[in-house]
Amino acid sequence: MHESPSGQTPPRNVDAGEIAKFEALAERWWDPNSEFRPLHDINPLRLNYIDERVGLPGQRAIDIGCGGGLVSEGMALRGATVTGIDLGEAPLAVARLHAQKSGVEVEYLAVSAEEIADERAGQYDVVTCLEMLEHVPDPASVVAACAKLAKPGGKLFFSTINRNPKSFLFAIVGAEYVLRLLPRGTHEYAKLIRPSELATWCRAAGLEVKDTTGMVYNPLTQVYKLNRDVSVNYLMYATK
Ligand code: SAH
Repeated sequence: MHESPSGQTPPRNVDAGEIAKFEALAERWWDPNSEFRPLHDINPLRLNYIDERVGLPGQRAIDIGCGGGLVSEGMALRGATVTGIDLGEAPLAVARLHAQKSGVEVEYLAVSAEEIADERAGQYDVVTCLEMLEHVPDPASVVAACAKLAKPGGKLFFSTINRNPKSFLFAIVGAEYVLRLLPRGTHEYAKLIRPSELATWCRAAGLEVKDTTGMVYNPLTQVYKLNRDVSVNYLMYATK
């Protein structure tokens, strides 16, 4: 797609094995009792968190690593004009079909964050990149691409999983082996990201971090809540 002067396409910042994991499950993306249940459970929380900070109606938003489109479609239904990008063909196909069924327009593109950032720098009021950075070889590059996509004053939202003994126990052992909420191997400990690391990448990309909020799962009540505990899952809000 984007050729360098030598005629070679530069390598993409993507791990094919990670894309394959999501391709294999994609048909069940919108089934709230599938492997995607945790994403369905957190969806209203994160959409509210975003909407409260940006006022979605009328905003131009891009969703990086959109998968089957839970966030993209959710933002569009709340009145934003949304582009969703992913490198998985099956999740994108599911996302396109579902938007059609929902009667909502979302532009879904198979392109990397870095590629779209070259084409559409400075065009978005809102940039979301949720539960994706921990699946990418160079997450700082994705954060920089997100920053590039935002207009000056644009608002950015990242979410991922912290890296510490507690998150290993809850997000990997608990979620994948004990409760079996997610398939084994969904998350790799070394790829998890501390809030301090994400904040450093944000600042390096010229962003100002405004807030970090935890998304906490209570296995007894099976309910997620937003609170100050960022030790496992968390959201980060930054501005350009
Ligand atoms: N953001 C969505 C989906 C999260 S699942 C949500 O929170 O609901 C992670 C998604 O990231 C998958 O759809 C996967 O295909 C995508 N992904 C992984 N690596 C990627 C990359 N390098 N570029 C674009 N998307 C990627």
